[in-house]
Amino acid sequence: MRLRWTWTIGRIAGITVSIHPSWFIVYVLFAWSATVMVPVVAPQLSRASGVLLGCIAALALFASVVAHEFAHALVARRLGIPIAGITLFLFGGVAMIVREPDSPRDELRVALAGPALSLVLAAAFAALATMADAVHWLWIFALNFFLAAANAMLALFNLLPAFPSDGGRVLRALLWHWRRSQAEATLWASYASLAVSGALVVGGIVLFVVAREPRGTWWILIGLFLAQAAAASGRQARVDVALERMPVRECMLTRLIPVTADTPVATFLGEVAGQPKAAYPVVEDGTLVGLADVRHTAGLPLPEWEHTAVGAIMTPLTKTVGLAGAASARDALVMLRERRLGELPVYEDGELVGVVTPESIYRTLRERRVH
Ligand SMILES: [Zn+2]
Repeated sequence: MRLRWTWTIGRIAGITVSIHPSWFIVYVLFAWSATVMVPVVAPQLSRASGVLLGCIAALALFASVVAHEFAHALVARRLGIPIAGITLFLFGGVAMIVREPDSPRDELRVALAGPALSLVLAAAFAALATMADAVHWLWIFALNFFLAAANAMLALFNLLPAFPSDGGRVLRALLWHWRRSQAEATLWASYASLAVSGALVVGGIVLFVVAREPRGTWWILIGLFLAQAAAASGRQARVDVALERMPVRECMLTRLIPVTADTPVATFLGEVAGQPKAAYPVVEDGTLVGLADVRHTAGLPLPEWEHTAVGAIMTPLTKTVGLAGAASARDALVMLRERRLGELPVYEDGELVGVVTPESIYRTLRERRVH
């Protein structure tokens, strides 16, 4: 998730911390709700010290949220996952992790680190509150009481099974472990998130309309935010599941038009290339040596077309990896991206049967109406 208009406030342990202006709404809301709760928790405190307490409690909550995100970020970094930074916004904090964890176990560790730290903080503030209460330090008691409650709420709210929140990630890690497919796990986790966010919205409406409780609007906002995030990850997961279930033999180019390695590029472009759904294996003395593609000629000046052989602009076979027809389209896309190639050969029983390209994969997906 990328937020615009953020303000960088500093770097801790090499990780940039920034604030989105919407976070100030949360600050004011929390300071205000702590202030109005002071007469309930510590009736002897004056109104002025109640307001001061609310402002300080909100600042300490800010530090708690940063600590929660740092727990995620530091565990991720230890597991070799780079961190783009931490941003605080309307619905709390987010540690921007550059890529997905490699295994369900790693995902579980990163996801649980934040809520675990919040629970430890909640217990520490509760212990401090108890000690302050014993010696009648009212102000200190009230402050620690709020922070204990806020950190416990932070942990619990984040553990709601709504992807991409921590609880949603925990759920995905468990499904991923069970189903052995990250794409399928993401899809099911996004369905669960839609159910949870729907329940939040309905609960918020009931709270607001029936109980006339203004906090209901907050539930509705969070529910809508989570629903939108779940729908986006669900869309991507549907595509990934389809790619995972589609063998390359169903989405490869099967019209193979061989060209000899000594064919001039001008002849290749003018007489051979450009046919629909075709691929061009390059042969030399009857054996396959590479794959030719119109895109390989980009950058070759026009006067050179006559004097350059296709063999000079092809992707040599030695640079590619052969795929079996049963390999999944998702694996093919990963390999194409990692090797920065435009096409990969597909073999069955040792014989070239097709060529798979990102375009051939996405075209087949579109034909099957997976969006
Ligand atoms: Zn978290």
